Amino acid sequence: MNRSSDSSLTGIRGCLIDCLEDPFLISDYRAVRWFLDGLLVIQSGKILACGNYEQLIESYPGLKITHYPDRIITPGLIDTHVHFPQTAIVASYGKQLLEWLELYTFPEERKFQDFEYAAGVAEIFLDELLRNGTTTAMVWTTVFPESTEALFQAAQRRNLRLIAGKIMMDRNAPDYLLDTAETAYRQSRSLIEQWHDRDRLSYALTPRFAPTSTPEQLQITQQLQSEFPSVYLQTHLSENLGELAWVKELFPDDRDYLAVYERFGLVHDRSVFAHGIHLSESEFARLASAGATLAFCPTSNLFLGSGLFKLHEAKAPERPIAVGLATDIGGGTSFSLLQTASEAYKVSQLQNQTLSAVQMLFLLTLGGARSLSLDHAIGNFEPGKEADFVVWNCRSTPIMDFRNRAEIQTWEDLNDRLFSLLMMGDDRSVDCVYILGDRVSLPQVATAPDKAFG
Ligand SMILES: [Zn+2]
Repeated sequence: MNRSSDSSLTGIRGCLIDCLEDPFLISDYRAVRWFLDGLLVIQSGKILACGNYEQLIESYPGLKITHYPDRIITPGLIDTHVHFPQTAIVASYGKQLLEWLELYTFPEERKFQDFEYAAGVAEIFLDELLRNGTTTAMVWTTVFPESTEALFQAAQRRNLRLIAGKIMMDRNAPDYLLDTAETAYRQSRSLIEQWHDRDRLSYALTPRFAPTSTPEQLQITQQLQSEFPSVYLQTHLSENLGELAWVKELFPDDRDYLAVYERFGLVHDRSVFAHGIHLSESEFARLASAGATLAFCPTSNLFLGSGLFKLHEAKAPERPIAVGLATDIGGGTSFSLLQTASEAYKVSQLQNQTLSAVQMLFLLTLGGARSLSLDHAIGNFEPGKEADFVVWNCRSTPIMDFRNRAEIQTWEDLNDRLFSLLMMGDDRSVDCVYILGDRVSLPQVATAPDKAFG
């Protein structure tokens, strides 16, 4: 075949970096791949080839190429835990988890029974993900199926790979936010039938956390899981000491927090547990053997004063647990996964552990994909994967420009540049984002219609 005549092919030229293996298990150098002058060849939204420009271009003469000199190109970033209805309450002052929910979260989530309001926030939320280089997320909606519907519709229009689910919550929250075991079953089932595995979308069963679901509701969650084995499960686990004491009170017969979820069959390789700060070694070991994921949310953990996640214990090579990074908006304070990685680095430093640039890149890309069982589709530049990627400008602020003027000539240069991007970068560092090989236009201001917020 004369590939040069194939007009469906496009090329992206620039400095490429991605992970092929887990740098928590082998050295950074062996886990990462880079091409200082690289070429991605894209066909029908998927990666056809990835390599050194000079070598690869010989096979694709005449290829239509977009060139990004002085940029770094990575796979799209993956946020493993984020609440879209909390977009408007980011940076709400002064409380820890349980009071924070009462004071800020619940009143805002109430508004999402209105489809139009939910649809407006969904647009802002997805704009904000993309403006920050986040191309896939595991997202919470609210107890109202309207809000889940609104988010799925908005994500579908943008061709995004996204996982989401309706919250199930039938006790210990304001009446206006409660469902029942029965309505949670019916509404979740209907959303699964409509949205799970449709285009790039997947469904996650979403009990808020053990204290807000009755045993009956956890039972029907298990029933849905067995009726639809390929759906995900997302919930919270062991975030705050007050929460731990409450779980002990509500579930006195279970030996620890994780055991509550285990009793209802909710700990498996499609389960994603946010936080996991105060886990015992036994809980870590059981999560590892179940193949479950922990979503590490450092900006949230610091902002709400929840504690320091033990990343290096979670990733211990003798029984590694899948870990993804997550913004946990709006307990978290930034949509930027770069800022999130920067805080993860500091949380590790406070525990006398370091976190390399390659390890952070892994958590944000291939590690995130593996933790969501999506590594067959996204996470790096392997041929056949979906072409979601980000073009980064490491000179996007005056101080970054000053620091990063020198040309990248070696792996050490690139490693240092990547680390500076992770520590100092934010949405300003995103030059552009591609979804399925198409460049998306990123709004500079919120674009949702004002009427939704009147
Ligand atoms: Zn959360």
